[in-house]
Amino acid sequence: MKAGKGLRGTARRASLLPARYGLTPDKLRTRIRAMTADLSRWEATPTVPVTANALDRHPEIAGDLVGCDSAIHGYRHVRYAGLSEAAQSHDLDLASRAFRNHQVPVQGFRAPYLAADATTRALLKSRGFAYDSSSPSMALPTDHPAAGEIVRLAEARYGDVPSGPARPTLEGGLVELPVALPDDEILIDGLGIDNEEGLGRIFQAMLRPALDAGALLVLQIHPERFHLCSKAIEGVLRSATDGGAWIAPLSEIASHVRASPSGWPAGHAMALAVTGDLDAVSLLDFARRVWEG
Ligand SMILES: [Zn+2]
Repeated sequence: MKAGKGLRGTARRASLLPARYGLTPDKLRTRIRAMTADLSRWEATPTVPVTANALDRHPEIAGDLVGCDSAIHGYRHVRYAGLSEAAQSHDLDLASRAFRNHQVPVQGFRAPYLAADATTRALLKSRGFAYDSSSPSMALPTDHPAAGEIVRLAEARYGDVPSGPARPTLEGGLVELPVALPDDEILIDGLGIDNEEGLGRIFQAMLRPALDAGALLVLQIHPERFHLCSKAIEGVLRSATDGGAWIAPLSEIASHVRASPSGWPAGHAMALAVTGDLDAVSLLDFARRVWEG
């Protein structure tokens, strides 16, 4: 990436920050509730992986998560891949304890930055997690006009990303539910697409091959940007429903895969989940997150 482009990207991301987070948690709390309410019109429950220190700092968000399917997104927002087993288990166990303390039920995990490794998955198995959702998967067909730039942005963030319709896998009792790319971060921060038509066209292009292949499509929209995507998501949910998709949160999909590893329930054509990581709740949390790295 050229220096100039990188700087422009950094400036754009920085300028977006006050719009994403408020000084207090109120803005984000409103957005979580709006996301859940919007999706409930489609009888869809979002899966929200939460960085657990946000729960400790803002216990009131536990109430906002009541209508969601929650998952652990680290205690701190740190890359697990490459950390020692002791460091990973320390962070994971702190997170599990915070979820228990705040009485937020949780069955799954998504690694911050989608950076998990074999040590992470072994820990998740030993701690009895039902699923992991940390493997990125490129859901946009490679012949799509925006694919070249999107693949470059995805690889800059996550390294090599497999392409094509994704399927859940079950290994040692742990279900892996890959996350579909591009996500809102690549589309809105990376490409600057913030209009519902543009976002809708990309989401629809991600849906079609998943429907054809009977695959799993795990969309990722951060709650603080959900309002920018809500119309586009509504369009995709309508098309998915028309096409016979099963729309379910990750914990339900994982429990189905554990019970019957092939096929979707009740003859559904594919499975679709809407997920949104809650990395930070206020600008101060975000600043701490950058500091903690
Ligand atoms: Zn995150």
